Amino acid sequence: MAVRVVVIGGSFGGLTVASELRRRLSPERAEITLIARDRRFTFVPSLTWVATGERTLDRISFDLAGPLKSQGISFVPAAVTAIDPARKVVAADGVEHPYDFLVVATGHRSANEAVPGLGPGDGPGHSPMSPAEAEELAGAIRTLLVRPGPVVIGAAPGASCLGPAYELAFELDHLLRRRRLRHLVPLSFVTPEPFLGHMGMGGAGRIRQLLEGAFEERDIAYRTSAAITKISDDAVEMGAGAPLPSVLSIVIPPLAGVPVVAATPGLANAKGFVPVEAHFRQAALDGVYAVGVAVALPPADETEVAVNFPKTGHMTEQMAVMAARDIVARLEGREASSSPLSARCVMDMGDRGIYMAVDPVRPPRNRIPRVSEGRRWRLVKLAFERAYLWSAQRGRRPPTAVGW
Ligand SMILES: Cc1cc2nc3c(=O)[nH]c(=O)nc-3n(C[C@H](O)[C@H](O)[C@H](O)COP(=O)(O)OP(=O)(O)OC[C@H]3O[C@@H](n4cnc5c(N)ncnc54)[C@H](O)[C@@H]3O)c2cc1C
Repeated sequence: MAVRVVVIGGSFGGLTVASELRRRLSPERAEITLIARDRRFTFVPSLTWVATGERTLDRISFDLAGPLKSQGISFVPAAVTAIDPARKVVAADGVEHPYDFLVVATGHRSANEAVPGLGPGDGPGHSPMSPAEAEELAGAIRTLLVRPGPVVIGAAPGASCLGPAYELAFELDHLLRRRRLRHLVPLSFVTPEPFLGHMGMGGAGRIRQLLEGAFEERDIAYRTSAAITKISDDAVEMGAGAPLPSVLSIVIPPLAGVPVVAATPGLANAKGFVPVEAHFRQAALDGVYAVGVAVALPPADETEVAVNFPKTGHMTEQMAVMAARDIVARLEGREASSSPLSARCVMDMGDRGIYMAVDPVRPPRNRIPRVSEGRRWRLVKLAFERAYLWSAQRGRRPPTAVGW
């Protein structure tokens, strides 16, 4: 009888696990079902470009049904409402899906309740953390172009996804200079990180010096070890120092696990993230794995204001491949290998980019981090977006070496 694998989540983690399993297991050996709340795959790294008007959601997303069908993966476009690890079933849209192996790749919930005013939806703050939020932010940026004023960009205490905050600071600066409005918009960057470029991973080579220089060159004021305590319509308040006036506040929230994962007894930690061991197995529950942002990873170091460990797209993909290989190895009665996560990513700056490669992500590292800045990196990021969408939309394995 074919083994039943259920994957929850249709983004980088879920798609990679399902495709990798299908490449290694024929339909006779494994029935693979992917359940996703969102019918469309969205290329999340491009959400900052949706916010600045460089992209539409349509251009960076596609319907999952076609590519999954072409790979022989069953697709259920529905939200999972219950997971029962004792009975080994998940429920979505009133239908129960039994599994032998379950992979949780459900990403995050924005924990906007952590700071009064984080938003949108919950407060006047803005963020690019989901397609809907990025579109809302695009509207707010259009308003800023008509009614310019001070802007605060940054992250709340406990945030882990810091890259998009830096990208938006540089991208907005670039957009405003192109429109000759920059002189009307004081731009401040506020971060819980102890220094620029800490990124929740203890920094990387000369990224700190590079970012400090880039902010100073571009007249972007910055505060580090800053704990944002409140966001109102016209200011951002912090534990220490005077409030910063702001007509537009873009603040990355801390993240938590999605409600159904958080609510499943024995599956997740207090924040709703799934603790895993080296092969991304949830050690306490038989046959259960988690990958991507849904996974619990401890902070890299202790900081004055909390900063959590990053979970990038490139890391998500490595987790997904390791989890899939482990499932195959268990079916074949052998042990799969695992390795520490590394990361490569490109930070967009509007007209150029910064490339960072760290191996492993968590210091101390085997390799001296590679950090490089230039126009070519933005071109690499643009090419990667195009290549990823082109391949994934056709059910093919996207190229993933550089460009995230
Ligand atoms: C604005 C932004 C920019 C970023 N830029 C970069 C970058 O440049 N480079 C980089 O490497 N990383 C970047 N990241 C991080 C990267 O996007 C994440 O690491 C990646 O999206 C994680 O993938 P995932 O599959 O774990 O989760 P997600 O992408 O969050 O996807 C979660 C999936 O789970 C589904 N789901 C959730 N709940 C349920 C439920 N109850 N039932 C069924 N399905 C459910 C959703 O529909 C979705 O399909 C960025 C993140 C953001 C927000």
